[in-house]
Parts: sequence; structure tokens; C-alpha cells
Amino acid sequence: MGASRTKLADTISPGAARLDSIDPSTGQAIARFESCAPAAMLAIFERARSAQREWAAQPIRERAAALRRVRDAIFDSRDEIAGMISRETGKPRVEAIFAEIILALDTADFLARRAPKWLRPERIPHHNIAVKTKSGWLQYEPLGVVAIISPWNYPLAIPMAQLIPALAAGNAVVLKPSELTPATGALIGEIAARAKLPENLVQVVQGGAEIGGALIDAAPDKLFFTGSVETGRKIAAACAAKLIPSVLELGGKDAMIVLADADLEIASSAAVWGSFMNCGQACLSVERVYVEQSVAARFTGLCVVKTKKLRLGPPSDPDAEVGPMIRTRQLERVERQLQDAVARGAKILTGGERRPELGANFFEPAVVTAVDHSMDLMREETFGPVLAIRPVASAAEAVALANDSPFSLSASVWTRDAQAARKIASQLRAGSVMINDVASYYGIAEAPHGGRGASGWGRTHSRFGFLEMVHVKYVDIDRLPRIAKSWWYGYSAELAAAADRFVEALFAPSWKRRMAALRGSCGVVFRRDRI
Ligand code: NAD
Repeated sequence: MGASRTKLADTISPGAARLDSIDPSTGQAIARFESCAPAAMLAIFERARSAQREWAAQPIRERAAALRRVRDAIFDSRDEIAGMISRETGKPRVEAIFAEIILALDTADFLARRAPKWLRPERIPHHNIAVKTKSGWLQYEPLGVVAIISPWNYPLAIPMAQLIPALAAGNAVVLKPSELTPATGALIGEIAARAKLPENLVQVVQGGAEIGGALIDAAPDKLFFTGSVETGRKIAAACAAKLIPSVLELGGKDAMIVLADADLEIASSAAVWGSFMNCGQACLSVERVYVEQSVAARFTGLCVVKTKKLRLGPPSDPDAEVGPMIRTRQLERVERQLQDAVARGAKILTGGERRPELGANFFEPAVVTAVDHSMDLMREETFGPVLAIRPVASAAEAVALANDSPFSLSASVWTRDAQAARKIASQLRAGSVMINDVASYYGIAEAPHGGRGASGWGRTHSRFGFLEMVHVKYVDIDRLPRIAKSWWYGYSAELAAAADRFVEALFAPSWKRRMAALRGSCGVVFRRDRI
């Protein structure tokens, strides 16, 4: 591994930068790590490349068996992992289990089954008669060393959903966890060791932006970045300079559209959970609700009542439903958005205050109305526990407002009318749309995840995410290897005329013309004047 964990009392090697894992509910350091030295990156990549060559040479069934060992190692350590995720991020244990442990287990299980099938060479029948003498197929080859730079908010689920397919495809991985969650990052390295993966196949490098930059400088074969738009821009520029392909999973500003016929009890529960899970610090959080005017008052009232019932507290309290925010600076950002919104006429119906008696980073979930798109709250990612609700005159207005955003990660539609829901889903500019649920597609292994615009590019999860991990090679074999090709040298006016008749034979609008041209074009195929 590229970093080592020490007990807090231990000293850090001379010259090494220190990285503390901090419990956000107390502000206390719970573990201490050494940051990886940028100069070490070269050797880390050399080891990764050598491990990758051996790994890629293993039959896929061996690699699938290794993924099952990863699954089993997570299963056996789930108590320890869930405990660490909760302590380091502040999220309730229930969320650590549902959103992180299950996803990691299911990804390993899913890819152990599917990857062998997806990696099989695929015959490509040719439609064009001119190339029927050839047979082609696709081969799926590993990229080499894949780098993963992860955020803090789902410190197990996000890197594992990228690391597991990377390994399945035959790549080695260098993972940089967030500097805010080094302990969970280190656990990922330990899971790889417990699963007896080959040494150096998965290397965890600890550190912040500087180490992320060094990772890109080391020229991985592809970079998978998940994080903020601001960092995503820097990463995209750094990758472009080295022509490193990338997948960017950036921010979201997910809209929820509630039509008048929706089950308001269920929809309001979904809005409250979708907005406040992980204390609102999820890319797929519900950040904006557009609800039809006729039911807006009732829906908003239900959201307020349910929000008031939420129990705030640290993850050590098993009944706590909303934990602290990760750091005070994130909380201040949410406060700034709320202040700006209120100054422009928004009304906070509940919450929006700090709860210092619980700890420095506790903030009461807020329900806000009278919002419009002039407010930062409706345009920028909030990434905090704020549910903004805006009544609309019609479904068409809701769609227009939902699409009025630089983000396009996911969205949801709430109605009992399946046809109306499908129509709205196809009109929404989003990577995914859930009808009568929020966010849970993220846990469906077959569902692709990703956005466009400010939400990034490329896909993770599903077959599409898996295909991001491979080099697609086309291989072609000629069935008539003793015949030189018509288009080779030996050009002449006669050949040009025969080629033109060949075009007629293939593409003329009527069969009569095609048949007439066919005889005259035979000379193209059986040429004697080639050099
Ligand atoms: P962040 O951008 O601050 O950091 C993400 C990672 O990038 C960290 O590991 C950090 O050390 C690294 N980094 C920072 N600067 C870097 C640089 N210059 N070069 C290389 N690496 C650098 O994000 P965060 O606060 O950890 O996460 C929150 C953000 O992530 C939110 O915007 C959220 O929407 C987004 N997110 C997106 C998804 C998704 O799937 N689309 C999922 C989770 C989180």
C-alpha cells in the first residue's frame, strides 16, 4: 500500500505529511495516516504495471473467483467497515449498510457472474455486401493501470463500484481515497489483502489534491474521478494535457417532479429521505421539488411535519437519522445559499439552524419555499440538508424548470399515471429518471450511472460502466486471402467507372438500377490490372 496507518500516539516518519481521519460529530482525530510522497508515484505505477500483466494473463474464471473472494472479505468484515464509514463520515449505520456495504457486495457478486460473459469476443456480422468476404469480431482487452480518485461522501461504495469492474476487466488499480476518509480508504486496501488479491494489484495512495495531481502525472491508462465540478475541471485539464481518457462523475442538482395525482404521503416521505440522507451530502440528493399547484400546500405541509420528526445525532446513537455535516466549511456554504435565498424572498418553513449542543457540524434539515431560479440555492449544488419546494402550474412548467440547470445527473417523477410519467421521463435532461422512487437506481447493478454537462461525462455501474474499463479492439479476418483487393493500386479511368457502377449496384434507389449496374461492376471485384 502507498500509505500506512498509525495509532494516534505513534510518530509519523520524518518528512512525511500527516493525514488525520476525523470524526465529524466530535472533531476528534480517530486515526492517523502518512500521506504518500508524490515522488513515490513512479515506483507505485511500476509495481502496478507488473502486477497488471500477470493479472490480465489469468483466465477470466480465476479473476471472477478473486472477485468472489473480495465479496466474501467485505461480507466477513462488514461490521468493521460499516463502523468505520459511520465514524469517519458521520452517516448513520443504517445508511452505511444500505448504501455502501450492500452496493459493494452486490457489485462484486454481479461482476463475478457477468464479466466472463461480457468479455467474450463478439462476432460482428457485416451488413455491406462489399465486405461480406471478411469476418470481424470485437475483443475486450484491459486498459492497463486504472487510477481512481474518490470523494469522501460514499467512501466505500463509490471506489468499489469502479475498482471491482476495473479488476474484472484485467486492470490494476491505484486508488486515491478522499483525504477526509483515509481510514475507509485504507480498509479497501486491507480488503484486497484479505481477499488474497495479487500484491500491488490494488494500491491505495493516501493524500489530498497534490497526490491526486501526482497520480495523473504518472499517466494512468484511464482516470475515474468522482467529486466536485470545481475539481473535475482541474482534473479534466490535467488529463487533457496528457491525453489521458477520463470518466468524470461530478455534482448534481436533482429535481423531483410531483404531479397532482401522486400519492402525497409516499412522495413526501421520499422527498424528505431523498433530500436529507447522508445529511444531504449525496450527488443524487433531491435538491429541488417542483410540485403541481393544486397539491403544493398539502405536500409541503407533509414534508415539514416529517422533517420535524427527524432525529439528529451522531452515528453512535443507533436511533439518529441525520448525522453531522462533514466539515464546518461545508455547513457554511449551505448557510450562504440559504441567506442568499432568504434575501431574495425565500421562506424557511423549518430547520436551517446550527445545533451546536450536538457538535460543531450539526445542522437542522431545512424545508424552504418561495424559491426561484435567481437563487444560488436553485442553481448551484447545495450538498447539504435543504429541501427546496416550488409550486408549478403544470407538468410542462416542471419539466422546463427541472431542465433549467447546468447539472443533469438524475431526476424523479411522481404520479399514478404511468404514461404521463414516461413522457416526462423522456423530456428530462438527466442521466437517469426514477418514476415513484428516488436515488435507489444507484444500487441496481444493471443501471448505468452518470450525467452530462456539469454532472460530468462517461458512465459507471452496469455494462456501460464496465465497457469504460476495457479497450475495445476490432479484429478482422479475410475469407479470400488469395485475392488482392479491388481498391488497391492500379488506378485507371476504367477502374473509376467500374467503382461508380459498384456504387450504383449497392445504393441506387431502385432494384432495377441496382441489378443493371451489378454486371458492369464485377470488374471491380475481379481486377487483373492490380500492381
Ligand atoms: P472534491 O472535488 O473536493 O474531492 C474529490 C477528490 O478529488 C478527493 O479525493 C480530493 O483529494 C481530490 N482532489 C481535489 N483536488 C484535486 C486536484 N487538483 N487534483 C487531483 N485530485 C484532486 O469532492 P468531495 O467534497 O470529496 O465530494 C463531493 C462532491 O462529489 C460533490 O460535488 C458531489 O456531488 C460529488 N459526487 C459525485 C458523485 C457522482 O457519482 N456523480 C458521487 C459522489 C459525490
